[in-house]
Amino acid sequence: MIEQRRILNTAIPGPKSHELHQRKLASVSTGVSTGLPIYVESGQDGILRDVDGNQLIDFGSGIAVTSVGNGNQRIIDAVQKQIADFTHTCFMVTPYEEYVEVCEELNKRTPGSHEKRTALFNSGAEAVENAVKVARHYTGKDAIVAFDHAYHGRTNLTLAMTAKNMPYKHKFGPFASELYRVPMAYPYRWPGGEKHCEAEAFSYITDQIHAQIGEENTAAVIIEPIQGEGGFIVPPPGFLPALAQWCRDHDILFIADEVQSGFCRSGDWFAVDHEEVVPDIIVTAKGIAGGMPLSGITGRADIMDTIHGGGLGGTYGGNPVACAAALASIETMEADDLAGRAREIEGILKARLGELSEKYEQVGEVRGRGAMIAMELVEDRVTKAPAAALTGAINKACHERGLVTLTCGTLGNVFRFLPPLTISDDLLNEGMDIFGEAFAASV
Ligand SMILES: *Cc1c(COP(=O)(O)O)cnc(C)c1O
Repeated sequence: MIEQRRILNTAIPGPKSHELHQRKLASVSTGVSTGLPIYVESGQDGILRDVDGNQLIDFGSGIAVTSVGNGNQRIIDAVQKQIADFTHTCFMVTPYEEYVEVCEELNKRTPGSHEKRTALFNSGAEAVENAVKVARHYTGKDAIVAFDHAYHGRTNLTLAMTAKNMPYKHKFGPFASELYRVPMAYPYRWPGGEKHCEAEAFSYITDQIHAQIGEENTAAVIIEPIQGEGGFIVPPPGFLPALAQWCRDHDILFIADEVQSGFCRSGDWFAVDHEEVVPDIIVTAKGIAGGMPLSGITGRADIMDTIHGGGLGGTYGGNPVACAAALASIETMEADDLAGRAREIEGILKARLGELSEKYEQVGEVRGRGAMIAMELVEDRVTKAPAAALTGAINKACHERGLVTLTCGTLGNVFRFLPPLTISDDLLNEGMDIFGEAFAASV
């Protein structure tokens, strides 16, 4: 057990982390960079302990992955037992119950009471690729529509859907074809103003699909119900239900990429649950398995079962250790009501960020749901010019004070708060005190 307390023994990063980082620079490709080079020795719930004995408060959860907390006893027990039993057979060669059980859980917990089927993979990007494969196969159509500010992964096909050039796409093309991007319903920056965002975005987007792609050529629209890397953009109420209905009316599949927003992160099991939207296919990963690599696509049975045997799969997809961790994660989320806990975290974070918003003109907007909260920073509230340098400076100041923070946004000016759902109120408030200090020191 690690005491849930911040401890700073050395400067951040300390000497041992510094030494390890020299080895990293000499051995790891420069393409794989690190946000905060403290080298982690262990972690539990709201704390990461580094090799110098420093204990940092974790506001990142390894990018929304360790929602049930590092050091979770249910995960440890489930993984240790599974490793001792067997580690791999390849589900496509000789199957096992854990894979089936994870699919049953996903079919049960994802939105909609209709008959569903699931397939498991290793990463979010791999699952998104498979959702695209299934949509094209089922509809017999080619075009896929994604959104400005979207992030769907780093493989070639998903990069074609991901919006941001630096660092993701820069000089990595050419990208897969028949992927189109339309504007996002982004209330804070909608040209016609926030009040008109829902109606205007809906007609702009559907008109554009009609005129530039054609509904009869469009296999699927894929959207993050709360955009992640693109800036925690929450579309206005009514937008997702209207878009899903429009897709249904035109035989276009509606795919929700809930890789970041799913599994209790948003204060409900899935972010589409807030508006009772039922996707044809939902993509999950990140928070699903307490840090073990696992992802899935869950869809209408009539869609998923049109695929011929052997059409979906992979050597490691639905690995038994990852499945055991997923089952323990889901059990924890249910037993400890982590969706409810995410809503409590929302209350605390929004109250604390609201105080900063009253104090500083650079706070453009505080938004998000559950334990997926963001603050967008601007030069001033009139021009809304993105304050990327200030965002970077605050991030650095947080790191130096022992708080692990992440930024995001296509324009690099959004702070995101993604604590483990098992973090204590004390650590959450201490983290927000540090954030306030870092803000004051940087502005
Ligand atoms: C992280 C992320 C992905 C990609 O997942 P990987 O496991 O990194 O491949 C896809 N979609 C969304 C919304 C994500 O946040």
